[in-house]
Amino acid sequence: MDIKKLEAWYLKNHRKLSFRDTLNPYYIWVSEIMLQQTQVEAVLPYFNKFIQKYPTVEDLSKTTEDILHKDVEGLGYYRRFRNMLKAAIIITEKHHGKFPETYQEVIDLPGIGKYTAGAILSIAYNKPYSALDGNVIRVLSRYLGNDQDMRIEKNKRVLDQANQSYIEQSTPRIYTQAMMELGATVCRPKNPKCEQCPLAEHCFAYNNNSTEQYPVLSKLKDKTEIEYVTLIIHDFDGIYLRKRTEDLLFGMYEYPQYESSSIQQVLTSLEDQGIMLDIISDEESYKHVFTHMIWMMKVYHARLIKKGVNDWQFIHESEINHVPMAIAHRKIIIKL
Ligand code: SF4
Repeated sequence: MDIKKLEAWYLKNHRKLSFRDTLNPYYIWVSEIMLQQTQVEAVLPYFNKFIQKYPTVEDLSKTTEDILHKDVEGLGYYRRFRNMLKAAIIITEKHHGKFPETYQEVIDLPGIGKYTAGAILSIAYNKPYSALDGNVIRVLSRYLGNDQDMRIEKNKRVLDQANQSYIEQSTPRIYTQAMMELGATVCRPKNPKCEQCPLAEHCFAYNNNSTEQYPVLSKLKDKTEIEYVTLIIHDFDGIYLRKRTEDLLFGMYEYPQYESSSIQQVLTSLEDQGIMLDIISDEESYKHVFTHMIWMMKVYHARLIKKGVNDWQFIHESEINHVPMAIAHRKIIIKL
């Protein structure tokens, strides 16, 4: 690979992004966690506010899960932020607030996998550790003409080894960022801009007119559709919410909802728990698409007649916008 050309291209052409304009490992860590499964444009406003609110790892370590969930409400995949909080506490207590510098210490932190460790160590500390994400997989599978299924771990490992050997011949902090930037701006999934690419001369896919064939990714299972009855339960000057305990959206608040397509069925089963509701609105339909499932929600407003046994929490109307809530429910418009 013509690494010198790639690095020169990066130095001249990269976008000015606030989280790339730093060698601070804490900032790089925060941005890499936010960028998991999330687009750069969506991350930028969150990142800037986050760093203002928590300028150091120690500041972050003092917050709570609920406050942190609220800070990142809308980004999804909230487990990554709970892990971030756990890691911040470890860095503060075990490493005296200084971000660790060895691969082993970094990868031992909760929520940090091989990619994130490679990104932090190469960008912040200029150490040669491969950071192979989806963008880099696309660039390398095209460049090398690797037609193996990149959903399979052992096939990704082959590219990771290639990436490792390239980074060992480079300036690690520039190489890692150059590959990420190339994947994001030039070697795009559709219509890559090969004529602007510093790797074009030796790129297998470009030279064989087959860029669209890479990377090879086997088809994912169709999304599962789940039907819910979702209840906005009013009582005096507030409503009831439930704090989720399920893996998906753990710790986020939601309107009580039940897997069913029938409000009558839900009301009957709530009565068995001693709960009585008076439905006071027509049905409204909402849909929320996650990566692997779709929630189809029939939403009803109700007034509480009898509380019975439940896991709901009363939230005063002034507090509703301050609790962390999944976007699937935040987007339901309620009138109090
Ligand atoms: S030449 Fe085209 S396909 Fe090959 S790495 Fe560059 S942008 Fe990607």
